[in-house]
Amino acid sequence: MTTQTIQTVGIIGAGTMGNGIAQVCAQSGINVVMVDISDAAVSKGLAAIAGSFDRLIKKDKLTAEQKAAALARITTSTDYAALNAAQFVIEAATENEALKIKILGQLDAQLAPEVIVATNTSSISITQLAATTKRADRFIGMHFFNPVPMMALVEIIRGLQTSDATHDAVKDLAVRLGKSPITVKNAPGFVVNRILVPMINEAFFVLSEGLATPEDIDAGMKLGCNQPIGPLALADMIGLDVCLAVMEVYLNQFGDSKYRPCPLLKEYVAAGYLGRKSGRGVYAY
Ligand code: NAD
Repeated sequence: MTTQTIQTVGIIGAGTMGNGIAQVCAQSGINVVMVDISDAAVSKGLAAIAGSFDRLIKKDKLTAEQKAAALARITTSTDYAALNAAQFVIEAATENEALKIKILGQLDAQLAPEVIVATNTSSISITQLAATTKRADRFIGMHFFNPVPMMALVEIIRGLQTSDATHDAVKDLAVRLGKSPITVKNAPGFVVNRILVPMINEAFFVLSEGLATPEDIDAGMKLGCNQPIGPLALADMIGLDVCLAVMEVYLNQFGDSKYRPCPLLKEYVAAGYLGRKSGRGVYAY
């Protein structure tokens, strides 16, 4: 399978990531079949894409004609049979291992053997998921970042079983979508989150030791390391509960105490200070 033979991409899940991936595919001239479990979910995903296009039009980055052409490339369904049109499928459903294994089984039954299947999982082992499929060499991680239309990076994660041909086809596809791919071996957190989340955890240690105020910690990392946003403000955006859960996965899977979650992070989560989504995290909103 070469990337040029990919004319239609199937997407499982019309949520935050699924609809973002659908948008960038459609904007790149690729047809999309976006599947979710209910009409309400696919309608919500389509509305999010239309809203995103409208914001681009307001900023003069897209014309009304381009919006109409891109939307015309997207079809939606609640039936996996609609994926027969796709030469490549990316799974972007809810982050739950049992659910993803069930979906991969449905895809095995539905898709021609040569179709490559990718997952956008943030935390589940690609090697382990691949082992549950009948196409382990044609299975790979394709980890987009949120918001998909804005973020340039795609981490391409090779499971132990992923073939070179699969890797190369998915890398080409990422470039066709206007993204900058990096290739990563399978391991908890892949590359970016493996570095990012322990850095955020360390910022909580620095805060809990009273070394500096939250504002000064964030200013230090912005001005001293050229980060666009400080680690504590970023934690509030990601969700403190999500940061804590990721550290617990690393601690558990690597068995290395260097990944122990900061007690202050645990305390904030216990208090319900989850960040922007709860109106209070390190900062009040
Ligand atoms: P979300 O909750 O916004 O969307 C998930 C969608 O999957 C929902 O619309 C849900 O109805 C649908 N779904 C559930 N079961 C399904 C099934 N059997 N078939 C089809 N659709 C089904 O979640 P999200 O934030 O878009 O995350 C999706 C995936 O992307 C997860 O694996 C997550 O770890 C990963 N991811 C998320 C982010 C992020 O910042 N949100 C970043 C990178 C990767």
